[in-house]
Amino acid sequence: SREWHLTARPVGWPTPEDFALVEAEVPRPGEGQVLVRNKYVSVDPYMRGRMSAAKSYAAPYELGEAMQGGAVGEVVASRAEGIEAGDHVLHFLGWREYAVVDAKQAVKVDPEAAPLSAYLGVLGMTGLTAYAGLLRVASFKEGDSVFVSGAAGAVGSQVGQIARLKGASRVIGSAGSDEKVKLLVEEYGFDAAFNYKNGPVGEQLREAAPDGVDVYFDNVGGDHLEAAIGRLNRDGRIAVCGMISVYNNTEAAPGPKNLARLIQTRGRIQGFLVGDHYDLQPQFVQEVGGWVRSGELKYSETVVEGVENNLEAFFGVLRGDNVGKMIVKL
Ligand code: NDP
Repeated sequence: SREWHLTARPVGWPTPEDFALVEAEVPRPGEGQVLVRNKYVSVDPYMRGRMSAAKSYAAPYELGEAMQGGAVGEVVASRAEGIEAGDHVLHFLGWREYAVVDAKQAVKVDPEAAPLSAYLGVLGMTGLTAYAGLLRVASFKEGDSVFVSGAAGAVGSQVGQIARLKGASRVIGSAGSDEKVKLLVEEYGFDAAFNYKNGPVGEQLREAAPDGVDVYFDNVGGDHLEAAIGRLNRDGRIAVCGMISVYNNTEAAPGPKNLARLIQTRGRIQGFLVGDHYDLQPQFVQEVGGWVRSGELKYSETVVEGVENNLEAFFGVLRGDNVGKMIVKL
């Protein structure tokens, strides 16, 4: 069984030299555990944080040990009650072909109800992030105009569509290529979108949001955050989900220069972690699952094949190679 190890802590952009694909024996499950053959493995921007030693909400990856992350696989042997060989489970021991998982850390998923990869994306962690961040953290209400960055990614593409389906007055997105911008408007039903690489974000946002922004869902930080504060309407809300533009910085990025605008607008900036919002999971799966089935909410996945390409897939997320959720298929 092959598994990825972190061998050195990256400084700045991670490089292949910081990782190793290691051959390990297929482990045996102990009492209360199951052996899982991973079928779909998630790569996510937050994993960059776990490669650093700095304390954060998720523990740093240990050097010389298998890395972790969301995964869905088939149980091939079980010593746990309630889970049988042949069942499929969602768990957190990705970045490897086989995993021994404590049954308590595994959630059974139904391959008949949705494609297995969906449990990592549209109906999984990134989907719930979009749902909770928009509806609860940003207190979205009908008639709001919503701006989301990283809009062609897993979280962002869902934020924009949930906003549209819940009656936003205008949905605006930004992404890093003209093809992604086209997809946002033509497939996902955004009212306006722009390529942040084509010009200053502040200017492009002013054009795309002539009546300002009530909600900004931030996946990116940096210029985007400053631009959104500059366009914020009275009682505007900013949900800080991620700041991918600074994850590989070696020095602290400068903060937005226009925070005083929050006084005039009575604006609010609120960070959040999806882990605090799992109470919304049943409601989220019911509502978003319904929209997926009816075709009202579309989703994309970028699928990379083979455990040997797991690392390259992760680099791809940082570079923006993906449309929708980046998934590794084993
Ligand atoms: P995405 O599918 O959105 O992939 C990341 C995307 O970020 C890339 O496709 C790329 O698209 C974009 N990107 C990369 N560098 C930059 C940059 N310098 N400026 C602007 N965009 C950039 O990932 P996710 O949907 O999984 O995650 C989106 C965000 O949400 C991340 O910041 C992540 O950390 C955060 N997150 C937070 C959670 C929480 O609990 N708070 C939970 C899950 C995710 P492009 O081509 O457009 O540049």
